[in-house]
Amino acid sequence: MPHVSQRVLRIAQSKGQKNRLRDDSVSAASDETARLQPTLEQQLGILTRQNQKLEQLNACFEAALEHMGRGLSMFDADQRLVMCNKAYVDIYVLPASLARPGTPLIDIMRYHTLRLSGEEISKDIATEWVRDHLSRLQQAGHREEVQCFPDGRVIRVTYEPLADGGWVDIQEDITAQRRSDEKIEWLAHHDTLTEISNRFHFRKRLEHQFETYDPRQGFALLWLDLDRFKEINDRLGHIVGDGLLKSVAARLRGSMRAGDVVGRLGGDEFAILQVGVDRDDLADNLARRILQTIRRPHEVHGHRLHIDASIGIALAPQHGQDPEQLFACADMALYQAKSQGRGIHTIYAPGAVSEAATPNPLRAELLEALDRDELVLHYQPIVDLKEGRVSSFEALMRWKHPSRGMIPPSEFIPIAEETRLIVRMGTWALRQACIDANDWPDDTKVAVNLSAIQLESGDIYEIVTEVLAETGLPAERLQLEITETVLMRDHARTQEVLRKLDELGVLISLDDFGTCFASLNYLRSFPFKKLKIDRSFVRDIPEQHDCVAIVKSVADLARELNMRSVAEGVETAASLAAVRAAGYSEAQGFYFSPPVRASGIKRAIKQCALRMAALDTTVAGSKATATRDIQSK
Ligand code: C2E
Ligand code: MG
Ligand code: MG
Repeated sequence: MPHVSQRVLRIAQSKGQKNRLRDDSVSAASDETARLQPTLEQQLGILTRQNQKLEQLNACFEAALEHMGRGLSMFDADQRLVMCNKAYVDIYVLPASLARPGTPLIDIMRYHTLRLSGEEISKDIATEWVRDHLSRLQQAGHREEVQCFPDGRVIRVTYEPLADGGWVDIQEDITAQRRSDEKIEWLAHHDTLTEISNRFHFRKRLEHQFETYDPRQGFALLWLDLDRFKEINDRLGHIVGDGLLKSVAARLRGSMRAGDVVGRLGGDEFAILQVGVDRDDLADNLARRILQTIRRPHEVHGHRLHIDASIGIALAPQHGQDPEQLFACADMALYQAKSQGRGIHTIYAPGAVSEAATPNPLRAELLEALDRDELVLHYQPIVDLKEGRVSSFEALMRWKHPSRGMIPPSEFIPIAEETRLIVRMGTWALRQACIDANDWPDDTKVAVNLSAIQLESGDIYEIVTEVLAETGLPAERLQLEITETVLMRDHARTQEVLRKLDELGVLISLDDFGTCFASLNYLRSFPFKKLKIDRSFVRDIPEQHDCVAIVKSVADLARELNMRSVAEGVETAASLAAVRAAGYSEAQGFYFSPPVRASGIKRAIKQCALRMAALDTTVAGSKATATRDIQSK
């Protein structure tokens, strides 16, 4: 009450100045004091108002405690609960009996442990825990811990000691904050579209790999680039393009082993860090597996998409001692893979790149030929000599060059093989031939030539099964012709693939038989169903007796080995008569028909029937001579 004493002071001052009024003043002052002093009633009123205020404050405080987002509890020096708010009860799902003042902390703690882990802990352990908690709190003066609950909640608890030996603890639910921290962390490391590592993180992992790898085991960097992704993106739009990237990323992830890392470097480029590569063929196998899985059709927003990829591989430590060097080598290997026809993988080989980079106009043009629709298939009939009808057509590739005209396969297939472009070209030929064959009579098969390179570097079995499934052509209507060069390379995988194709029902024939040194030996390496004697032997009958002898013995050999035999290069009625007499099952050559366009198939079938009929009425002399010559051998 400061204003009351000031008044008294002022009265006292006036008392000093006016002595004559002294007595009067004294009595006046005591009257005044009496007047100013609150009565008992008034004092009671003040107290009641103060009490009300306090109660109001208390109510406010309680309401604030009850409604605050954080849990709060207070414990006394005997570790008994003094008070707690609703949030505290909610966080620990406490029953009312344990939220009452006076509840020992040990009881709350035992209840909490039982609820979370299903295990009841003894009083001793709980007491020990509380003792440890208190001593740490007293030492540090402040404690903080994060409690992770099995239901996913994350609670941060802060303990503040009180002067009387008790403490206050505050619980804050930081689940959402944790999630957003994790999300930020995730975003910093991942490509949001494909959800695999981003360029930055991939590089970090590669750096880490260089720092920590076991020198006895190297690792490989595979740099993958999708072939002609831009076309799909431009043609079908970004949504489909994005969907395709997601699908590719998911397949890449599925091809990895634990410890490997897959990342998107940007656009349609991906990278794989393959760990534990102590043999080159491990990287080779992974690349093969990846290309195989990417080639399977992708279903994206109602589109069935086909995509191929090229992979450049660099091995550490032999090709690079740091991420830059390794990336540079993988890049060069990728360039090489792309320039060799795409759809393939290449391991970095010093020197090979400059060679690949040497400009070769036809090579460069061939690279574009397929994309520009310049390749076509012509079909040449193969006639069953017993039944007198076309049993199959052989698909033969031609290049309709925009300025050089029609280029025969003898000119471009070697380049395609040298550059490995044949892998893509061969797959195209296979697919196109199966599509075309679907329009032919059901008993007419299609024969497609396979190059050794296709058998070695592509997943030809998967490609064949996929093409058959896609086009709906029964496996029994497909024949694959391989030459002896395939077998000369003696690749164990080739044998295996041929066997699987044979089991599938696809007929494998040995083409150009006899042109190779030690041909007979190759016959033993795989149970072929058909032998095609090279046209160079057939061409020279009946003039050259040695050819006649070879032609006849090959037919006999085929029969002995339970194989069908085909005579290629039959140009005249005389040579047809000769090969028929020699016992060939089938014949192919200009006598029946040259290779024709797909649109000329029907006419070719008719023409073959006419030629067969004509055979029986052909000049008896030439027929008889050829037959006599062959039989006399
Ligand atoms: P090939 O598989 O032995 O095909 C038969 C070749 O003989 C074809 O030559 C055909 O036009 C030719 N020919 C057919 N009848 C006669 C005839 O009566 N007389 C003569 N002198 N020749 C005849 P083409 O079309 O020039 O093909 C040459 C080679 O190119 C093929 O020999 C085959 O090895 C290869 N080739 C053609 N298309 C493909 C293909 O799609 N893939 C692969 N890998 N190679 C192919
Ligand atoms: Mg052939
Ligand atoms: Mg041939």
